[in-house]
Amino acid sequence: SGINFDNYDEIPVEATGDGVPEPITTFTAPPLEPLLLENVQLARFTKPTPVQKYSIPIVALGRDLMACAQTGSGKTGGFLFPILSQSFINGPSPVPQATSQFSRRKAYPTALVLAPTRELVSQIYDEAKKFTYRSWVHPTVAYGGSDINAQIREIERGCDLLVATPGRLNDLLERGKISLANIKYLVLDEADRMLDMGFEPQIRHIVQECDMPDVENRQTLLFSATFPKDIQMLASDFLKDYIFLSVGKVGS
Ligand code: ADP
Ligand code: MG
Repeated sequence: SGINFDNYDEIPVEATGDGVPEPITTFTAPPLEPLLLENVQLARFTKPTPVQKYSIPIVALGRDLMACAQTGSGKTGGFLFPILSQSFINGPSPVPQATSQFSRRKAYPTALVLAPTRELVSQIYDEAKKFTYRSWVHPTVAYGGSDINAQIREIERGCDLLVATPGRLNDLLERGKISLANIKYLVLDEADRMLDMGFEPQIRHIVQECDMPDVENRQTLLFSATFPKDIQMLASDFLKDYIFLSVGKVGS
């Protein structure tokens, strides 16, 4: 995967909704944190992609987002950069008092990214590691078809940002290893593929778990290559007063 920077600035972007912020033209503070900008430089990202130009200020503003953009357009940075910048500022959120000896080892991530496959969550996790370098934020990854006990040990070492497939996250929730009570950022990446793979019931369960403690506080970002009816339904069910972003040609 790579970005074609040739016709880069000709890619049409449409942003609709109330109070759409001006797009950024460079990676800069604000809205991005100096430490995040250092890590962006280390990764040799010299300028934001079209989806990043728009999504970074939208997410930094605290808005929900429905973004339609093709694979390879740079969506990962589009959500990770503003989420990490704000997380660096916020610092770790207080973990609720443990109620039993079992919940003592439960992790309380503040950011959750769901994606459909092991390959995709691994890619997002690799980016998360790069861009959290020298920060307090500890990313963790969880996917099926791999030793769950090894993943649980990793989670117990620290789990501020969790990148997971819906099925494996539900297993971890059932085992009481994760609480979604502190989730401030919920990202559904490649949402159309997740629905094609039959993950809708798991996703709805996960969103319910995020909703239980405090709906007000959560920001939800939905990314999809296409915008068919079932994705439109998810957007209207999960997002509040969202901004709609469409980058390049979008199929349905
Ligand atoms: P998508 O999720 O839209 O498919 P990715 O976020 O995976 O796209 O980005 C595709 C590739 O482009 C990745 O290898 C990523 O590291 C790289 N990339 C993303 N944004 C930039 C940027 N601003 N400058 C240079 N490379 C970038
Ligand atoms: Mg992606």
